[in-house]
Amino acid sequence: MKYRYGELTWPEVKEAAAAKRVAVVPIATIEDHGHHLPIDTDLRLCNAVCEAAVARAADRAILIPAINHGYSPHHMDFPGAITIGAHTLIDYGVDVCTSLAHHGFDTILIVNGHGSNTPFIDIIARLAVVKSGVLAAAVNYWSAPGVREVAERLRESEKVGGMNHACEFETSLYLAIAPDLVDMSKARHELSHRPTENYWTDLVAGDGPLVMMEHWSSLSETGVMGDPTKASAEKGRALLEAAANGIVALVDEMRARVRAPRVDRH
Ligand SMILES: [Zn+2]
Repeated sequence: MKYRYGELTWPEVKEAAAAKRVAVVPIATIEDHGHHLPIDTDLRLCNAVCEAAVARAADRAILIPAINHGYSPHHMDFPGAITIGAHTLIDYGVDVCTSLAHHGFDTILIVNGHGSNTPFIDIIARLAVVKSGVLAAAVNYWSAPGVREVAERLRESEKVGGMNHACEFETSLYLAIAPDLVDMSKARHELSHRPTENYWTDLVAGDGPLVMMEHWSSLSETGVMGDPTKASAEKGRALLEAAANGIVALVDEMRARVRAPRVDRH
C-alpha cells in the first residue's frame, strides 16, 4: 500500500482523504551538528522516524513530504544553517495544512525534528484547527510516547544535557540510519550551555522553567551540546523503533478522538 503522499495519483489522494488517513507532516531544519554529523541531521532523523511510522500504519496514515527548512537564526554563526523567518514559517506550515484540509484530510499530525521549531509547530497546529476546522496536533518526535523510557534506559551521558544536540541521542539515530555519513573520530563531548537553577535543557529530561535560547556560538564551541561519544547504532535502532511506534500511537489516538461540533453559544 502506497504511503508517500507524493507517489499517489490524484484519484489516490482522493481515496486516501476519504479513508480518513492521518496526514503526517515532518518538519525540521538544516543546521550545524558538530564536526561529526551532517547539517541535515534534524531533517534526516525526523524523516526516518516518520517514514518508519507511516510505513507500519499505511492503512491509516499518509506521509507528506517534509517541510525541510525551519527556525534556526541562533545557528547562523556556524556555516550551513538555513533559517526561515518566524512568520514565514508559520504561514508556510498553515498553508500546507490548509491545502491538505482543502483536499479532505481532516486529521493532521505535525512531527518536528528541530527543538527551536517547537513554538511554531504549536501555533501552526492551532491555526490549522481554527482556520480549517481539522483536527491538527504537533509533537517533537523525541517526545512521542515510549521514547523517553527507552532513552533513559540506554543513556550513558549526563542525565541533564547529555542528550541535547548532535548528542548521544541524535548521533545514535544517525548511526542507525546512515552510518557512512557519521565520523565518530570527530565526535566531541561538549556540555557548555551553563545550566543554572532554573535553566537547563535536554531532549529527554526536558527543559527547566526558564526557557531561553541564546546564540548557539555562545553556548558551544563545536556546535555539540551533549555527549556524542556515547552514541551507538544499536541505541539508535532502539530509539528509532520507539519513536516510530510512538508516532503510530499518536496517529491512532487522533483517529479515535470523538469529534464534537463547534457551537456558537452567543
Ligand atoms: Zn538536531
